[in-house]
Amino acid sequence: MTGKMKAQVFYEPEVMKMEQKDIPQIADNEVLVKVKSVGICGSDISYYYGHSPLDTANGKGPLVLGHEFSGEVVEVGGIPKSLGLFEVGDRVTCNPVQQCNSCERCSEGQFNLCSNPTVAGVNVDGAFAEYCKLSYTHVYKIPDTMSYDHAAVLEPLACATYGVKKLDVTPGDFVVVFGPGPIGIMMTQMIKASGAGKIAMVGIFDYPLSVALESGADYVINVADKSSKWYTDDVTAKIKELSGGKMASRVIVPTAAKQALQDALTVSGPASTIVYFGLPGPEDTIEVPALDTITSDKTIKFSWLAPLVWPTAIRCVGNGLMDLDKLITHKFSLEDTEVGIKFMKESPDDKLKGVVIVDAE
Ligand SMILES: [Zn+2]
Ligand SMILES: [Zn+2]
Repeated sequence: MTGKMKAQVFYEPEVMKMEQKDIPQIADNEVLVKVKSVGICGSDISYYYGHSPLDTANGKGPLVLGHEFSGEVVEVGGIPKSLGLFEVGDRVTCNPVQQCNSCERCSEGQFNLCSNPTVAGVNVDGAFAEYCKLSYTHVYKIPDTMSYDHAAVLEPLACATYGVKKLDVTPGDFVVVFGPGPIGIMMTQMIKASGAGKIAMVGIFDYPLSVALESGADYVINVADKSSKWYTDDVTAKIKELSGGKMASRVIVPTAAKQALQDALTVSGPASTIVYFGLPGPEDTIEVPALDTITSDKTIKFSWLAPLVWPTAIRCVGNGLMDLDKLITHKFSLEDTEVGIKFMKESPDDKLKGVVIVDAE
């Protein structure tokens, strides 16, 4: 397809411009998607403010950000066409992390560790634009019942799914989740659906904790705000009380907060599994009490990206296990992408997830 499109181009910290760009030209293995809805991710915010470099050759723009998106297929490359995989008009969600399939890690099936990934919105142009192209292997059809906004947040949901899979929930588990951000809320819903006995969510603001309470958490704990009715100054003692002295059998940490990284070790009990998921800074460390952890026979895992779980995430939404309406608290137009990014970072308003509606359904 030829012609021009509107795109939000990121140049340098706090400089993003709406421009006319050529519509991306697809290769034989690609699909062109007319973008409908794009999630504003924490990483978009940190690129925008210059808190982390882009993954481009020099770490800089110009680049179209936006990697969590859904849309409609408008052009199909030769390979997917000959395989009969897609037709113009298909409603799809998009996995932006396109592995090379030939490095050592890819050859062993560890696609999240690919050494040369092509990532829409991170090292090639992404979805804060009217059109975006992807390899046909990273485009998935969605059920008619799934809205484009829900399909846009499948990327973070897929990451959440991978973390929850690693948590290995057993029916009846006492689970502690640290961090009621969008990912933490998604995880709570999925952990509940996996058969957890009780779930306690630990956070620092009451609004997201109240959403966690509506999303399957049995208990919420505020460790920062002394005026909160859920406040405690000793989360370990609180979990001990709530678990009848047994402590948590599963703990997941979708936050990088230093205190949470440490508290995960003290709220977890014998034979527990801990999954670290949040993205800390390069200098951050976790101090593991060696003897207690060994003699408690704990398992500590880490979770990165979302290999081989997209179909699971899509099924969870398609089958009604997830309540994503609670998560999407703010919507912006493509013109207001920059306003949206700033709002999600700076506004004191109650908020969880913002999406940019590029083309309303
Ligand atoms: Zn993201
Ligand atoms: Zn690779």
